[in-house]
Amino acid sequence: MRNVSPWREPVPPDGTMGEPRARGRFGQYGGRYTPESLAQACREVDEAFRRAWADPGFRGALARLLAVHAGRPTPLTPAHRLSEALGVRLYLKREDLTHTGSHKINNVLGQALLATRMGRRRLIAETGAGQHGVATATAAALLGLEATVFMGERDIERQALNVFRMRMLGAEVVPVTAGSRTLKDATSEAMRHWVGATGDSHYCVGSVVGPDPYPWMVRELQRVIGEEARGQCAAELRTGVPDHVVACVGGGSNAAGTFAGFADTTARLVGVEAQGGAGASRGRPGVMHGCRSLFLQDDDGQITPAHSAAAGLDYPGVGPEHAHLRDLGRARYVTVTDEEAIAAAVRLARTEGIVPALESAHALAWVIRAAGDGDLPAGSTVLMTLSGRGDKDLSTLKELL
Ligand SMILES: *Cc1c(COP(=O)(O)O)cnc(C)c1O
Repeated sequence: MRNVSPWREPVPPDGTMGEPRARGRFGQYGGRYTPESLAQACREVDEAFRRAWADPGFRGALARLLAVHAGRPTPLTPAHRLSEALGVRLYLKREDLTHTGSHKINNVLGQALLATRMGRRRLIAETGAGQHGVATATAAALLGLEATVFMGERDIERQALNVFRMRMLGAEVVPVTAGSRTLKDATSEAMRHWVGATGDSHYCVGSVVGPDPYPWMVRELQRVIGEEARGQCAAELRTGVPDHVVACVGGGSNAAGTFAGFADTTARLVGVEAQGGAGASRGRPGVMHGCRSLFLQDDDGQITPAHSAAAGLDYPGVGPEHAHLRDLGRARYVTVTDEEAIAAAVRLARTEGIVPALESAHALAWVIRAAGDGDLPAGSTVLMTLSGRGDKDLSTLKELL
């Protein structure tokens, strides 16, 4: 069917990375597995977002916020010295240069603007290491909203500085003492809290996960990465489109936003997961946090905890659209170890003068490995999203190096 809605991008005939099917389905994944009270709240978010996304007024206001507050557009940086050493042509999409230092700001500014449009006065969010919590607190402060951030007690101990940063920005940080006292439990608690507060609060999910419409909405809000990069590649590359498009995958939002700009091209899409958090590479179908997707599970179907030196990749699942892209074969998912990521971070620092987030270093680690073993043929052009800057990881790196 021909795509006629004004806000959608042209997509291939199978609709890859277009709108999900009815009830937020991406193939056999996605959906809205919530109690009725939350399903109703999700329907309201869905309706409000569809209207907003079709409204040039909303689009314009968001584009302006992204420009004047977040620093968009971000540059496309050719990695000259590293490219020469690897025998490929590597270009970095610099999300590390946004305000707050990662792509997460693209999503939260969009959802915060939507919340004000819906008449909500408060944002609810979950956070693991604090990156999404800080971005949410930032957007809330900017738009005059309150922010309540749920965070596992263990993460609060481990991430004292980010907890302080959220409080500095005026957010309330609520410790979660259930279960493993980390991200998975913080997410469950945030959803539970939202049930009793849907009238005045918007739940701001941090990645392309959760019940419909979140996976689709967050991908659309991150699409700006892929669209900017597409235009920049068109200007920079003789072929217009890179041979490979690479991004790291935790829940999968920076990858989904990047892939969305190239899904209708010949570019090969590669999502790089942490060895210990490889939902797309090693997960099995299941339902968690309101959606059906791929999750790391034991033989009884219990979710098994993820482990990664990169906090943002420490999630035992992946967004439903990535699960579908994997099944379709449109994108490929690979894993790298903590050690490979750390070595890649050092290499980028010393060849290009950029200290990447450990999450982003996973994507680079695969590029380095693939250039070495011929998976990336000599002379290939590679677009890689550098999802964030490494400042937050310096104390981890200092311990390990
Ligand atoms: C949170 C985070 C990620 C992982 O989240 P996605 O939703 O998979 O993009 C990756 N990189 C950085 C810098 C992050 O902060």
